[in-house]
Amino acid sequence: MTAQAMSRSPAADTVEVKQFVAGEFVAGTSGKTFENRSPVDGSLIGLVHEAGKAEVDAAVTAARAALDGPWGQMTTAERCDLLHAVADEINRRFNDFLEAEILDTGKPKSLAAHIDIPRGAANFKVFADVVKNVPTESFFLETPDGDGAVNYAVRVPKGVIAVISPWNLPLLLMTWKVGPALAAGNTVVVKPSEETPTTATLLGEVMNAVGVPKGVYNVVHGFGPDSAGEFLTQHPGVDAITFTGETRTGEAIMKQAAHGVRDVSFELGGKNPAVVFADCDMDKAVEGTMRSVFANCGQVCLGTERVYVERPIFDEFVARLKAGAEGLKLGRPEDPETNMGPLVSAEHQRKVLSYYKLAVEEGATVVTGGGVPDMPGDLAKGYWAQPTIWTGLPHGARTTSEEVFGPCCAVIPFDGEAEAIRMANDTPYGLACSVWSENIGKANRVARKIEAGVVWVNCWFLRDLRTAFGGSKQSGIGREGGVHSLEFYTELKNVCVKL
Ligand code: NAD
Repeated sequence: MTAQAMSRSPAADTVEVKQFVAGEFVAGTSGKTFENRSPVDGSLIGLVHEAGKAEVDAAVTAARAALDGPWGQMTTAERCDLLHAVADEINRRFNDFLEAEILDTGKPKSLAAHIDIPRGAANFKVFADVVKNVPTESFFLETPDGDGAVNYAVRVPKGVIAVISPWNLPLLLMTWKVGPALAAGNTVVVKPSEETPTTATLLGEVMNAVGVPKGVYNVVHGFGPDSAGEFLTQHPGVDAITFTGETRTGEAIMKQAAHGVRDVSFELGGKNPAVVFADCDMDKAVEGTMRSVFANCGQVCLGTERVYVERPIFDEFVARLKAGAEGLKLGRPEDPETNMGPLVSAEHQRKVLSYYKLAVEEGATVVTGGGVPDMPGDLAKGYWAQPTIWTGLPHGARTTSEEVFGPCCAVIPFDGEAEAIRMANDTPYGLACSVWSENIGKANRVARKIEAGVVWVNCWFLRDLRTAFGGSKQSGIGREGGVHSLEFYTELKNVCVKL
């Protein structure tokens, strides 16, 4: 596939993925590796070199040196030109990134080509443009001597940022953090998910190709506890930690960040509702809900797992959602007909299937799905799950309150606006919600009362990267996106000049 980030194993047709530290691809000194398996058929893709404390330390040291070196000397305009070059180089090598992302995740090629890779590249341009164009405040202070003083604010980088990212949109979510961090003048050490190590590593080649100074972007591989993730977040040389992943992992990282009082930005789990009113445009609501439940095999943090439907249209809505789910084509990523891939790993498949079993135990009527699909040939060894819809789950069931992160939803009837808001908000999470109604006043009234960081009205996943993105309640800490990313990736420093 590529020149340096991955090397072909001489023993088999598999690839080895290494750390990227100070501009070099290096194996771990411990010699430890772990397997990377294809979610599509369980076959071995390759081996990943696991970073020990020594590699993490080398990566943080390289990131610190780059801050004090050429990267720290560059003007904002020079840095931003380089980040535009990074985006252009990702786009030039679009097919390499596409192939790597598909191999690691098993997601349909059409999805990765439409969302993951273009957004992975765009994240560098968007934030380069944000930092160049955002003004800072200034105040004139009157003083008794009549001459006064001028206060002006400057944004300065925080330093070395640890980026801990998940597997569901690997390149996109990682660059969503790396883009603004670098644009603001920081350096980064990335720990991508152990399930999807490849595109983060490939990005190292891009950084070298366009001349980003060594040590600005580093990648270490491994797991969370007692591995690269924990070594990195505990490292005293890390100034701030940005993390996307499960809420429970966020709790662990917060404890790790407490040493040295490091700042955190967290994008965490969700149990997102959709609220579908009887006066919705039914075609649009069904189409949008289909995407929000089943896109990326339900492995989208913003995806819907609870669908509240106003009673007069409940039966029709369930029937149409069922027809949509049963029309999904599960298959290989390269097959243009495929619109749903497998779950990311055997472990995640076990988790999702345990909820499929639990739902039945909790009294669900399985409208469709509920198990493992019959897949042909080698695909039978992959980590598949049927698109699944439940009705009849009692209020408070675990299946309607815990995040499954699979291709499934509970559909629940409601009577009137107040009940819909009460049920939608009855969760410890607060990430995203979709409201479907042609009564725009009502839809907006409800949107404002929903406890979530992101609410869509008559749409889903319509993203404007300039807007604030993040979760309330247990779905996150802080906001990223547009100028809001700078609030985390920079310190706002005030300079007071007596005239
Ligand atoms: P995860 O929490 O299991 O892992 C995420 C990353 O954290 C991985 O790189 C992992 O190795 C690392 N990690 C785990 N324990 C750690 C520790 N103690 N210290 C340091 N690093 C550690 O999450 P996942 O399964 O990869 O991703 C799915 C989850 O991510 C879901 O809950 C989903 O909702 C959430 N998510 C949220 C958003 C958002 O924007 N809010 C976006 C995507 C995914």
